[in-house]
Amino acid sequence: MNRITHNWAEHIAFAAAHTHFPRTVAELQDTVRTATRLRPIGARHSFNDIADTPGGIVSLRALERRIEIDTASRTVTVDAGITYAQLCPVLDRAGWALFNLGSIPDFTIVGAVATATHGSGNTNRNLAASVAALEFVDATGALVRLARGDADFGGAVVGLGALGIVTTLTLDLVPRFEVRQTVYHGLDFERVVGAFDALMGSAYSVSLFTHWNGARVDQAWLKSLADAPPPPAEFFGGRAAPAESSPVMGRDPAGTTGQLGVVGPWYDRLTHARIGAIPEIGYEYQSEYFVARHHAGAAMRAIHAIETQLHPALVVAEIRTIAADDLWLSVNYGEDSVGFHFSWLRDWAAVQPALAALEAALAPFAPRPHWGKLFLLPPEAFLPRYPRLADFRALARRHDPSGKFRNAFLEHNVLGP
Ligand SMILES: Cc1cc2nc3c(=O)[nH]c(=O)nc-3n(C[C@H](O)[C@H](O)[C@H](O)COP(=O)(O)OP(=O)(O)OC[C@H]3O[C@@H](n4cnc5c(N)ncnc54)[C@H](O)[C@@H]3O)c2cc1C
Repeated sequence: MNRITHNWAEHIAFAAAHTHFPRTVAELQDTVRTATRLRPIGARHSFNDIADTPGGIVSLRALERRIEIDTASRTVTVDAGITYAQLCPVLDRAGWALFNLGSIPDFTIVGAVATATHGSGNTNRNLAASVAALEFVDATGALVRLARGDADFGGAVVGLGALGIVTTLTLDLVPRFEVRQTVYHGLDFERVVGAFDALMGSAYSVSLFTHWNGARVDQAWLKSLADAPPPPAEFFGGRAAPAESSPVMGRDPAGTTGQLGVVGPWYDRLTHARIGAIPEIGYEYQSEYFVARHHAGAAMRAIHAIETQLHPALVVAEIRTIAADDLWLSVNYGEDSVGFHFSWLRDWAAVQPALAALEAALAPFAPRPHWGKLFLLPPEAFLPRYPRLADFRALARRHDPSGKFRNAFLEHNVLGP
């Protein structure tokens, strides 16, 4: 492919007429210096036009692969074109791990970090929080390095591609670990709501999957450390699944990470999809909203009350928890959060009213929408929830005074005109 034309779900046709595939940082710097409008792109997994531009798109997948493990600082430095699928098995073989992963391994790490992508776990922060340092080419073509502790670092990590094109990331490592995954079916909604924190804290990472069906929560996926006590047979009214499950009840579980309590490496259990299982094109839409975790029960009841309005568009919903961080545009900034995710049919006529009903139901809890997914909320509804927004805008202006990396999404939702 010598031109990137669409996002992964193929509903956004990029306006960009050409794609640059620089092979070196110096080549990238030349491209940036001579361009008037540019956007960096990763694996194209975002569901809105955050990565689009009328200028040129820059993909880093041709950059020379770099995986440098520093055992003294317990970090790995990688090129920004790499995906979790490419990095994780290498780390594992070397005895190291990342602390958490999202639902699939196919995003670029830089794309995941730029939008504050997350997995689950009451004490696990989102994936951007593992960044210890980064380098990016700003709009002048200069290479900027920022590390944890630098004044602007918290603004640059979840950068939405607004400050420049990240070329290198240094990530925190932990010693490799093993995980076993146990799935339960048919949890009792009232018991889940009544003991939400305890339930979500009952394993290293817990995901609830549901079609928002009345008195039941369809599934709980518990990802427990291998040496944790064995999981119980009954879990909040649910029973351990007798066979492997898909997140969508009744679908073929092919391509999901190992279940039934079988121990496996962290990277083959913390995601829901195995490496290689996700197709090149995805026929679905996604949305997700984050609210303070102490609102979890009330927010669940609010969604429950409008669930029939979701059904015409809903494929499956997922509920996860994320610990607070201090990255300025993180959807979890300053707040232990719960994320309400929705996979939708790729049918905007059905999705639009469902989203409107959902956003109205969640409004009392001041949700922050996922930067890489679909939402209708106007910026005035969520920007006040980012206390460092003015600092972020100033930082973006400093690194991109001519607006080279701006696009319609950023101007409307984040930076202003
Ligand atoms: C099947 C599927 C499952 C998903 N599961 C999860 C999940 O579990 N948790 C979750 O939180 N999200 C999830 N998402 C959303 C996804 O994580 C985000 O959309 C993420 O940004 C995708 O990464 P990407 O590499 O595709 O980035 P892209 O979508 O290509 O880009 C995202 C953003 O990163 C910027 N960017 C890309 N490269 C660079 C660079 N070099 N320098 C600076 N900025 C850059 C882009 O400009 C853009 O703003 C899922 C998406 C899909 C399709």
